[in-house]
Amino acid sequence: MNKIIEMKNVSYRYPVSDDWNIKNVSFTIEKGKFTAIIGNNGSGKTTLCNIIRGFIPHFYKGNLEGDVIVDNKRIVEYQLGQLGEKIGYVFQNPFIQVSGVKDTVFDEVAYGLENLGVEVNEIIERVNEILKLIKIEHLREKHPMELSGGQRQRVALASIIVMNPDILVIDEPTSQLDPIGTEHVFNIIRLMKDKGKTIILVEHKMDLIAEYADNLIVLHEGEIALQGSTRAVFADSRFGEYNIQYPHVTEVALNLKKNGVALKYVPIRNEELPES
Ligand code: ADP
Repeated sequence: MNKIIEMKNVSYRYPVSDDWNIKNVSFTIEKGKFTAIIGNNGSGKTTLCNIIRGFIPHFYKGNLEGDVIVDNKRIVEYQLGQLGEKIGYVFQNPFIQVSGVKDTVFDEVAYGLENLGVEVNEIIERVNEILKLIKIEHLREKHPMELSGGQRQRVALASIIVMNPDILVIDEPTSQLDPIGTEHVFNIIRLMKDKGKTIILVEHKMDLIAEYADNLIVLHEGEIALQGSTRAVFADSRFGEYNIQYPHVTEVALNLKKNGVALKYVPIRNEELPES
């Protein structure tokens, strides 16, 4: 297995916190896989993302124990800039990420490359390529403040993807989007997966997770409750204990089962069922 991220017995406590906020978490993420992190509010999803991307402990201190290894190197041994090139982070709220300091979407997407001192012709080429890939060429000359939430989230994704990171950590990108905006975002994530990127996503929409994610990590009160392939986790009888919504089809199937309908197989996504 080609590991890209490894957490070994990681625990973390915020400076003001009496208790550990992340407790003895261990997992491995394979290069090119799409892993979703799920769990109730306060279970530690955002904190874990911040540890994976090195924001903790590079920016935000507190007690961090255990090892976080990214691409075979401990995260504490990276320079912050090196980590930023390897791991792109997309915030939950596109209104934070898309600053509006720049006058056009083009300039907004180009901003990170300018900061790295990339040569101007290369910037133009790379930004144009990403605007086309993400299908936002028509927004190119718009002021970022004129955009809808969904458009803004796509621009936020573009401004990260243009930096060409190997790993994308995306924290609840669709929480403020309508179904069409949500579909656009998931199409972009799928495109990135097809390009071999490693995706780590926090998301509450279980139908989308069931459809797209290879693997799931379920967090509960700072600990890993369950982890494994998406199918294995949703099929695990303990999943129901954590008060997390099932994918819609799974819920229907489980209700049928509860009401005495014999089912040999519980689906997790809309798919053709095997012969039973
Ligand atoms: P989730 O993303 O699953 O909602 P968080 O990672 O935001 O969970 O929070 C996990 C725990 O850490 C919660 O108990 C929360 O109150 C606490 N926490 C989050 N951010 C901070 C912070 N900046 N300072 C102190 N405690 C925090």
